[in-house]
Amino acid sequence: MKGNLFVVSSPSGAGKSSLIGALLAKHDDMKVSVSHTTRAPRPGEVDGEHYHFTDVDTFKRLIQEDEFYEWAEVFGNYYGTSKSAINEQLDQGIDVFLDIDWQGAVQMRELVPHIITLFILPPSRQELESRLHKRGQDTKEVIAARMAQAQSEMTHHEEYDFVMINDDFDKTLSDLERVVLSHRLQTKNQKSKFADLINELLAN
Ligand code: GDP
Ligand code: ADP
Ligand code: 5GP
Repeated sequence: MKGNLFVVSSPSGAGKSSLIGALLAKHDDMKVSVSHTTRAPRPGEVDGEHYHFTDVDTFKRLIQEDEFYEWAEVFGNYYGTSKSAINEQLDQGIDVFLDIDWQGAVQMRELVPHIITLFILPPSRQELESRLHKRGQDTKEVIAARMAQAQSEMTHHEEYDFVMINDDFDKTLSDLERVVLSHRLQTKNQKSKFADLINELLAN
């Protein structure tokens, strides 16, 4: 039995990490893929939990060794999804979320045609900036750079299967949950999950 693979993208600060975190807290059978990154850990970030923090040389070696499904340079740092981060979980029937940028989504769509992609938009530009400040983890310069990038990132929402405006957090969380749960009911998934039952129901 295989799990479903989801990509969630948004401009920095729109809320994707919080939304994925809240969803995972409710469901044992959903996990987030832990990316590799060359950026420095933020206060409170744990190696192996939020990211696998690596130096640039190691990251480049992993690229050479074909360890990544996809990788991209975002805000001057490298980020990548390693193959081992997701295959094992999907094989166990766990739904896996990739919190990756639009460039990563382009690569993943090519590799995994049935991947489900979601884009999170903020309710306004002002609110996006205010969330980046309130999160309190990036310097003013980093926030300015992320805001400058936000508009061009948001143009990519059209390439995604689902778009959500993260205004009210609980409402967005419930929308996200419904998308994920409804995908489990797709015929191809139900057929493998309930193969024995279906065989019995259809037997002469
Ligand atoms: P945040 O978006 O403010 O939470 O900042 P992060 O530093 O956590 O993420 C930076 C950017 O890298 C975001 O656009 C992520 O979606 C993207 N990102 C994170 N992990 C990956 C990955 O494994 N692959 C790709 N392609 N992008 C990633
Ligand atoms: P991202 O992962 O997209 O960069 P985060 O999940 O880190 O964004 O959210 C950025 C900040 O905005 C966090 O401090 C988070 O608590 C807050 N936040 C997220 N969603 C909402 C919302 N719907 N309303 C108000 N604040 C939010
Ligand atoms: P942050 O530095 O705030 O953790 O992440 C910045 C951006 O990088 C976010 O938009 C995040 O989604 C993206 N990102 C994180 N990990 C990856 C990854 O493995 N691959 C790609 N392509 N983007 C990533």
